[in-house]
Amino acid sequence: MRILADNPITATVPFDRDGKHHGFLRLPCSRDSSAWGSIMIPITVVHNGPGPTALLSGACHGDEYEGPIALQGLAHDLEPAAVTGRVIIIPYMNLPAFQMARRVSPLDGVNLNRCFPGAPDGTPTQKIADYFERTLLPLADVVLDFHSGGKTLDFIPFAAAHILNDRDQQAACVAAMKAFNAPYSMILKEIDDVGMYDTAAENAGKVFVSTELGGGGTATARSARIARQGAENVLIHAGILAGEATQNKSVEIDTTGPGCYHLAETTGLIEPLIDLGEQVSAGDALARIWPADRTGVAPQVIASSVSGILAARHFPGLISMGDCLAVVASPVQ
Ligand code: ZN
Repeated sequence: MRILADNPITATVPFDRDGKHHGFLRLPCSRDSSAWGSIMIPITVVHNGPGPTALLSGACHGDEYEGPIALQGLAHDLEPAAVTGRVIIIPYMNLPAFQMARRVSPLDGVNLNRCFPGAPDGTPTQKIADYFERTLLPLADVVLDFHSGGKTLDFIPFAAAHILNDRDQQAACVAAMKAFNAPYSMILKEIDDVGMYDTAAENAGKVFVSTELGGGGTATARSARIARQGAENVLIHAGILAGEATQNKSVEIDTTGPGCYHLAETTGLIEPLIDLGEQVSAGDALARIWPADRTGVAPQVIASSVSGILAARHFPGLISMGDCLAVVASPVQ
């Protein structure tokens, strides 16, 4: 077995001392703009005695904003007296990507949510992954990682839990997802789960919840409110905060069946025919894709393979072959 080196990241905050501590995860990174510099990833630890630990993160992808907004607010507002146990808050998990409003890191081109378990002697993004894998995840009982669609996708707002081999763990994750109380709750099977933070947290036996709360490279007042309330609901569910979680209606949906994902097989101009949250029947047209370089040619019509509601859509007006055009989710009976 390969012996891993120590991770070069050091925390400027204590994880085991009561109180509220704002600081940084300091990642040494020698680069053109800073010879002996470090990347300073903000972190807040709010700790009050024994109890469970929640690990909350946003901007695993740097162009997704609901998590960072909710977590900046929580880091500012949360006081130790309100907490039983510990809350670790990292609003900008992939800080270099966040600062450039990019999905992947500008330093190495690596997608943080596809490079777990990372490597302590790898690229900057791999080092961040390794720090979460071997230092932060072992501290946590419940893990909430915020996502949205970024610049290229837009979603109906949902919290998600995955299908897992361990049925008890899956039930605990589903209960935490329901506690988040987004307008939609999704049982999810990833297209490709290798290297995901989600998978790392689940393999470590943690109660894990992720979200997709919007997209298009921005947040809305509604999606930001859902994020903040959801974070507090999960902390209440975990026994870390007192009070009552909201119990608004949440529509249960899943995308585990075949045919939910619709990819473009041509390149061009999208004419949407269905909006997010609307119902479709199998065979209904979701969109037309018109040629971007000529008139007089019929569009390609993308029909839904399944019945359900439009849960995700390509956000930019232009699409390329192989891009995800639409995800149609099935309501859970
Ligand atoms: Zn994401």
